[in-house]
Amino acid sequence: MQSGFRFRLYPTPEQASRLLRWIGCQRFIYNAKVSEDRYFRTFARKSLQHVGQFAPQDQQYSHFITEATPWLREVPSQVLRNGAVRWKQAYSRYWKKLGGRPTLQKRHGAQAVWLTSELFRFEQVVDSETSAVGYRLQVGTRKCPVGALRYAAHRAHTHPASITLSVDAGRWYLSFTNDDGVPEPSDSETADWLSSFAEDELRARTVGVDRGVAIPFACSNGARFDLTPVQQDRIAKKQAAARRWQRKLSRRAKGGANRRKAAYRIACLRRYEKDVRRDFAHQTSHALVADPKALLIVFEALGVQRMTRRPKAKQSESGRWEKNGARAKAGLNRSILGAAWSTTKTCTEYKARRAGKLVVEVAPHHTSQACARCGHTHPDNRRSQAEFVCQCCGHTDNADHNAGRNIAHRGVRLLLSGEFKPKEKKRVMRMRQKQLGADRSEVTLGEITVSRGAGNGAALRSMNQETPTSTAVGG
Ligand SMILES: [Zn+2]
Repeated sequence: MQSGFRFRLYPTPEQASRLLRWIGCQRFIYNAKVSEDRYFRTFARKSLQHVGQFAPQDQQYSHFITEATPWLREVPSQVLRNGAVRWKQAYSRYWKKLGGRPTLQKRHGAQAVWLTSELFRFEQVVDSETSAVGYRLQVGTRKCPVGALRYAAHRAHTHPASITLSVDAGRWYLSFTNDDGVPEPSDSETADWLSSFAEDELRARTVGVDRGVAIPFACSNGARFDLTPVQQDRIAKKQAAARRWQRKLSRRAKGGANRRKAAYRIACLRRYEKDVRRDFAHQTSHALVADPKALLIVFEALGVQRMTRRPKAKQSESGRWEKNGARAKAGLNRSILGAAWSTTKTCTEYKARRAGKLVVEVAPHHTSQACARCGHTHPDNRRSQAEFVCQCCGHTDNADHNAGRNIAHRGVRLLLSGEFKPKEKKRVMRMRQKQLGADRSEVTLGEITVSRGAGNGAALRSMNQETPTSTAVGG
């Protein structure tokens, strides 16, 4: 079973400045590879049509160390090589259609350096008084030592082959993934086991989770999860402060130290909210999975990405732009994304898999209008945001709780019908399909001459295996 770890790291100021240099040098090599690749691709398209030379997709980096870049010699060569390796890995993801081509990494925002096993080791330390066993992280080579880094391991961990040290708004992290060798049952095995249950039995062991805007998570077993009032209050205050600083930032000179300070301030203010949301997602998913009565956890299949899209721009007949409710939608989007809907679901999925439980998704339509007792579905059943009264059998309930029960029923039916299919691993990058207007059925001639003009574009495409159809079709 693969598990990810992220611990807080506490470097001294000297260690931090040294690590920042490592980060900068690795980014330099990565960006140099990106630029080199771009240059080769442009050059090959324009001029090398007869020669047939293409960008070398290798991990060579030594030619970037020149008299103009003497500072590259001051960091371990493995740091530089890892920059080239990261670029190569990003490129192979592109060929597998899992992402776009590698792009230039920015100097601002969160930064990270990837270290392989030559550059670090975990040293065992035994406390002389309590004889508790802990670990110390030694980073660096003999020529470029960084020393022992303090980190807070809030859980036991094994020793990985590579680690990532990152910094975001002045806070350092140590993160890595590792296989702990413990086997975990696959989703289809768990589904087979659960479908051997009788319907009543399975219903008693199922929890349906209704995701709503008023209450982020309401379960069929009566549990409800929301941020505490204190957290909500603090988030609102910090958001207001971040907006204030954003206005200040916009008035400060680009590239100046004061602008950088304002950006740092904003990042710190936003971090609180991010931390609270992540914590909420982990606590909620843990509570859902830790419930001993729950073996099957059912969510609605909500396309959160699609639900939180910006509304389309509206134009009247005369060409004037009309109101499209973008502001109101933005507020709704904030509350949907703020409720950590998807993060909580993702966390529940992997935690359930470890516990030998199953998470399924069911169709979301009418879950809030149907009666959980008799199945009568009508909009009038929902009296208000919170109140549910069935117009047919008179069943009354809290509306979110009723919806949670409907979701649980659907999950049980899905599993017992044998139609449940475990999710497949993501194979293809999702790309939005190009929209052709009603009056534009095909690509016009002009476009062909513009985009596929000079050069041996056809040969390039066939070598790159980038036919327009294969890139336009998304998974
Ligand atoms: Zn009813």
